[in-house]
Amino acid sequence: MFLTDTHTHLDFPQFNGDREQVIERATTAGVRAIVDIGTDLASSQAAVALAEAYSQIYAAVGVHPHDAKTLTEELLEELRALASHPKVVAIGEIGLDFYRDLSPQDKQRQAFKQQLALASEIGKPVIIHDRDAHSEVMATLRRWIEDSHPPSAISHQPVGVLHCFSGDLAMAQEAIELGFYISIAGPVTFQNARRLRELVRQLPLEKLLVETDCPYLTPHPHRGKRNEPAYVKLVAQEVARVKGLSLEEVARITSDNARTLFALNL
Ligand SMILES: [Zn+2]
Repeated sequence: MFLTDTHTHLDFPQFNGDREQVIERATTAGVRAIVDIGTDLASSQAAVALAEAYSQIYAAVGVHPHDAKTLTEELLEELRALASHPKVVAIGEIGLDFYRDLSPQDKQRQAFKQQLALASEIGKPVIIHDRDAHSEVMATLRRWIEDSHPPSAISHQPVGVLHCFSGDLAMAQEAIELGFYISIAGPVTFQNARRLRELVRQLPLEKLLVETDCPYLTPHPHRGKRNEPAYVKLVAQEVARVKGLSLEEVARITSDNARTLFALNL
């Protein structure tokens, strides 16, 4: 089995007591590659440190929309320097969160655009967080792609992933046309996730990634407890069940997709 957890926060304090064992359990479950995602400067630095310590861990660096208010010119410079690290495979997570509005919306928009520009400048893909901001996220991404990519490259070149996807089929198809992957997380295993399972059924496996977003979004039957990368198997299992495929095939294809998007050296 070769599973890839494309979105973790293993650097978060929730793992301070047993990080080593959590990473070992992931390996035992067949999780052979992990992308740990920064949410602010300190967590981006911690993600890079984890990637240096473990061969199977890669890092993304960026400022989450919740922390957008912290993004100064100096911090952007520090991110640019971190982003050149060979194990940094993406800029993220970045985007808009109009559900919790922990940073002012205008500051979120500005931080999102500045970090999209950084990604094109260094030629790495983006990891997008979108909550209650679907139409504005899509409009921003479309403008970014059209302004920074030659028309002949659009949709042929993988540009990023919409993490823990929560939009509808039309939005997923538009994102795929722009060169994005769609990432499926623990909620696909929840009893009330009929719409999300229908979406998974209709989208091509070649455009899907799986993730935990641990410590959050713990899949059934561990819901309510802390999430960890080993549980990405439960997400892949549910994708396999919905699409009528084997777990091994879903693990292999979604790992191939992650390898392509993030240029992982596996
Ligand atoms: Zn996340």
